[in-house]
This record gives sequence, C-alpha cells and structure tokens, in this order.
Amino acid sequence: ALTAGIVGLPNVGKSTLFNAITQAGAESANYPFCTIDPNVGIVEVPDHRLTKLTALVQPKKTVPTAFEFTDIAGIVKGASKGEGLGNKFLSHIREVDAICQVVRCFADDNITHVSGKVDPIDDIETINLELILADLESVDKRIGRVSKLAKQKDKESVFELEILEKLKEAFESDKPARTVEFTEEQMKVVKGLHLLTIKPVLYVANVSEDDVADPSSNQYVQQVREFAEKDNAEVIVICAKIESEIAELEGEEKEMFLQELGIEESGLDQLIRAAYSLLGLATYFTAGVQEVRAWTFRKGMKAPQCAGVIHSDFEKGFIRAETVAYDDLLAAGSMTAAKEAGKVRLEGKEYIVKDGDVMHFRFNV
Ligand code: GDP
Repeated sequence: ALTAGIVGLPNVGKSTLFNAITQAGAESANYPFCTIDPNVGIVEVPDHRLTKLTALVQPKKTVPTAFEFTDIAGIVKGASKGEGLGNKFLSHIREVDAICQVVRCFADDNITHVSGKVDPIDDIETINLELILADLESVDKRIGRVSKLAKQKDKESVFELEILEKLKEAFESDKPARTVEFTEEQMKVVKGLHLLTIKPVLYVANVSEDDVADPSSNQYVQQVREFAEKDNAEVIVICAKIESEIAELEGEEKEMFLQELGIEESGLDQLIRAAYSLLGLATYFTAGVQEVRAWTFRKGMKAPQCAGVIHSDFEKGFIRAETVAYDDLLAAGSMTAAKEAGKVRLEGKEYIVKDGDVMHFRFNV
C-alpha cells in the first residue's frame, strides 16, 4: 500500500501530530491490507459523499477507505554524510511514496528550537538540502558508470547521461528533482533512479493554538506559503496540540469543538485528504443494501484492476462494471431512477475508473 511519510526537524511537533493520527486512526483489523507497525498510523479518509450515499441507500453498514502515514524518526544536519541516524533516516524516506514535512510555525520559549530560533524556511532548506545531497551522490555514482558506455556511443547510455547531467546541475543549485522538467520518455529513466527529491511534498505548518482560526496573521505561515508556491507544493496549517484533542471527539461533539475554534474542518482531516491526493489516490464506491463502501485506487487504473482492490477473484473473472457517477446517482435519487434516466453505463476492461464512480462489478467465478 502507498504511504505518506511524516518528516521534520526535532521539536517541530511531529510526534504530537503522529499521536493525533493514531488516536483518530482506524484499527488495522478493518483494513487487512495495512501494515502493523508502531511507526505506521492508519487513517480513514473523510468523504462527505459517503454520508450522502448512506442516506440514499440506507445500508446495514458504511465503511470508509483508509491509507497509511509513516512516522520517520528525526533528521539531523549531515544525514547525507551518514552521521548519527542519518543513513537510516534516508532509507526510511526512500520507502515512502510522498513526503509531509512538518514545519514549526509556533513560538514557545519553553521549547528549544534545534537551530536556536524559529525560522521555517531555514528548517525546510535544511531538510531539503540533506535530501538533495543524497541524490547528488547517487547521480554522481551513476554518472561514473554510465559515462564510459556513453563514450562508446551506447545509445541508451547517451540518453541517460543527458538526464543525469541535467539532474546534477539542478542539485548543484539546490533544486530538488521534482522541479526539473523532463519528457515522458526521460521520466521513465528518472523514476528508475529512485531519487528522494522526486517524491511529491506538502508542507504542514504547525501553528500555536491562538493562530488556528486566522493562520494568515502568522508571519511564519506566510513565509512557508511563499516558499511552497515556488516548490509547487501545498501547505496545510494545523495546530498539532489541538489536533490530538480533536482526534478524541466524534460527530456532533467534534463539530461543536471546531466551531468554538472557528474552523470548518480539522487540520488533520485536511492533511489526510491532501496527502491522499498527493499520493495519486482516488476513491470509487460500492453501494448495496448490505454495505456502502469507499475503495481506494490509483488514478489511471482500469476497471478490472479496481475490481481487484476488493478481491483478486473480481479482477481475474472480470466481465463488466455497472457504473454511475456519484453526482448523477445523487441527482437521480436512487439507482432505479438513475437507470431509467440512462445514467448507468456498462463499462468494459479498458474503462479508466474516475474518482466518485459508483460501481457494481460482474464477474465469473
Ligand atoms: P518532534 O520532536 O518534532 O516530534 O516534536 P514534538 O511533537 O515532541 O513536540 C515538541 C514540543 O513542542 C512538545 O513539547 C510539544 O508539546 C510542543 N508542541 C507541539 N505542537 C505544538 C503546538 O501546536 N503548539 C505549542 N504551543 N506547542 C506544541
């Protein structure tokens, strides 16, 4: 399963946030595909469509979909040189599919900042630099190997060398691989390099209790937003400390607490949805009287593969998928009405599933 890694310098609020995640989190028993590991937190994906489908179908039970966050232990300056836990840190990052970087945007004299002052951009650059240096090392090694073959006019090596040189140039001017432009063909080669800085990133600005309702008044948040724009990254503002309190609440109680704080949606819920989309994930639904359920698939997956998310037999024996878009089903008011309105399609093996599709698979056993 795809996972988003939580990283950040010491004392920025990672553990506090991760505690909130595990508190709000789902039992792995309901999600057998999830890893059982103390550093992994399973979260259910908040989706208002599931609530509406439940009201419409009135099933016996409703099951949201879930995915995993991985807590990655503290980075230190010099990680790329293998200092301290450095190597371990980098190898953990290598295993995640997207990065959520927690940045300290709260001032608190009682809590030491590793570099002596609150400076979110310096924090971000410290981490990004370690990742860039590690990538530079991999690319240099690779250049050493490929350039010999390229000199002998080996076509593939010439092609790869050009890519490697382009990456090296970016790294030497402190730019991560994800900001470098490549053609589709080149991208295939880049993916094979398993670089750290190619992974998609979002920044989590951790603010104090007083700033949650109006984060724009916080100068650090402004700085992070400006930086993230250049990095093509999203920023989610949270107060990790409050999130752990919110995580204990549900339903009406949670709504009331959020209202008191002056926010519509908890920072954690925003983070969950942002990370989900950063991982390239999307949701389709099954809606029967027994169960209404959300399922996760990777954007671009075809109908049989999506059926395989439920059970491998569904993929093997796939015949067709009865499909209706969530909006059409809701507008029609019932499955029968949607059928009468001609909104229910029979899709075959080549159909690329869309986010929000409500599907019923037909398959051979
Ligand atoms: P980590 O080293 O990044 O895992 O940081 P921790 O989660 O252990 O947090 C470091 C300290 O900052 C702890 O004393 C937390 O209580 C405190 N802290 C974390 N988040 C917040 C916050 O949003 N507001 C305030 N005031 N303190 C926080």
